[in-house]
Amino acid sequence: MKFETNDEGHLTIGGCDALTLAAQFGTPAYVYDVAQIRGQMRAFAQVFEQHHVQYAVSYASKAFATVAMYQVAAQEHAHVDVVSGGELYTAQAAQFPMANVSFHGNNKSEAELKQALAAGVGTIIIDNFHELTLLAALLKQTPQRVQDVMLRVTPGISAHTHAYDQTGQTDSKFGFDVDSGQAKAAATQVLANPQLHLLGIHAHIGSQIFEVAGFVAATKRLLAILTDWHETLAFTPSVLNLGGGFGIQYTDQDDPLPAERFITAILETISAADLPFAVPAVWIEPGRAIVGAAGYQLYTVGSRKDVPGLAPFVAVDGGMGDNIRPALYQAKYEAVAAKDPAAPATETVRLVGKYCESGDILIDQAPPPHLTAGAVIAVLATGAYGYSMASNYNRNPRPAVVFAENGQAKLVVRRESFSDLIQNDLSYL
Ligand SMILES: *Cc1c(COP(=O)(O)O)cnc(C)c1O
Repeated sequence: MKFETNDEGHLTIGGCDALTLAAQFGTPAYVYDVAQIRGQMRAFAQVFEQHHVQYAVSYASKAFATVAMYQVAAQEHAHVDVVSGGELYTAQAAQFPMANVSFHGNNKSEAELKQALAAGVGTIIIDNFHELTLLAALLKQTPQRVQDVMLRVTPGISAHTHAYDQTGQTDSKFGFDVDSGQAKAAATQVLANPQLHLLGIHAHIGSQIFEVAGFVAATKRLLAILTDWHETLAFTPSVLNLGGGFGIQYTDQDDPLPAERFITAILETISAADLPFAVPAVWIEPGRAIVGAAGYQLYTVGSRKDVPGLAPFVAVDGGMGDNIRPALYQAKYEAVAAKDPAAPATETVRLVGKYCESGDILIDQAPPPHLTAGAVIAVLATGAYGYSMASNYNRNPRPAVVFAENGQAKLVVRRESFSDLIQNDLSYL
């Protein structure tokens, strides 16, 4: 795994010494290298620019959604996806340009759709017939208004890290099934409604994908669907949205492709196709590929339990409440000592959290050295789905979030206090 160090050999994040950050902001803390976030957004955008294709890099904000993150996305002229009223509210609070927001979700409530219409969300990505009916009814209340929409389809392709399957029907709760004719029926309904302006279709085939093959297959499949709709429904698409799922490096075992390889493969597939309409704009929705590798979690080492014949347990001051992914998906991470990240391993330990679950193991078989009480360690590549999935389990306050860039560190989410924990609790006396 790659990391940067300073003259003292300490880990640095965004040019800031990780030991200083731990002392200044406390642990556990999430620290982001903001230049790396910007760099990832630009790397995707650059490929489209080089190919002279209209595009949007729509950051899937469920990976990490805070006011500061929406501000950075806006500075980079990215679009964002939101999947709930709460994410939309946060984007609104950050004054993110609403025209560049896409609203996803398989069960958007009427209240959420109302909020999206009131906010002026650019694109609503319709997932199912219930939503289509709700949205049409809400729009009737403002008869002059036309809303841009896309249809989410399940094209019968799903990618799992190293492989993809072409399954016919996709067994997924998301989107309109293609093979059974649901997607086309939905398109017919949308096209018949003058208050809905159909931009095109969307598919998201999986997450942590390492091969271009699934994206190539999905692109071909979506273009075939659009060609059919062009011929039979007289529909001309303006956007093709291929979702996210671009894989990142979590450990030395992962060997992800650079962002540009995925986009180049998609764009080459489109330009090789014989389309009866002009090449639509291509939208992508990277989440983890934007923020994953840019995030570090700082912890302080506490207790240690040695058991003869077994790998010792070394406990840190956080755990599954601030990073549920190892417990939830057996996700793998690597950790380094902030003081000396390049030091060779001296033993193999299990890095565990402080939560009351035996499954609260952050890293099984972690070899970072010098894990004595008080040492600060950094778990690498924790920027995606860490803070956004954090909980208050065991009534632990959620950690602070710090943005570091050009040697400057700024607190962007305060550490929760005990009084924050009970602020919505009401007395029963
Ligand atoms: C989760 C999700 C993404 C982002 O996935 P990553 O693996 O973080 O890139 C993009 N689009 C949709 C529709 C999603 O549900």
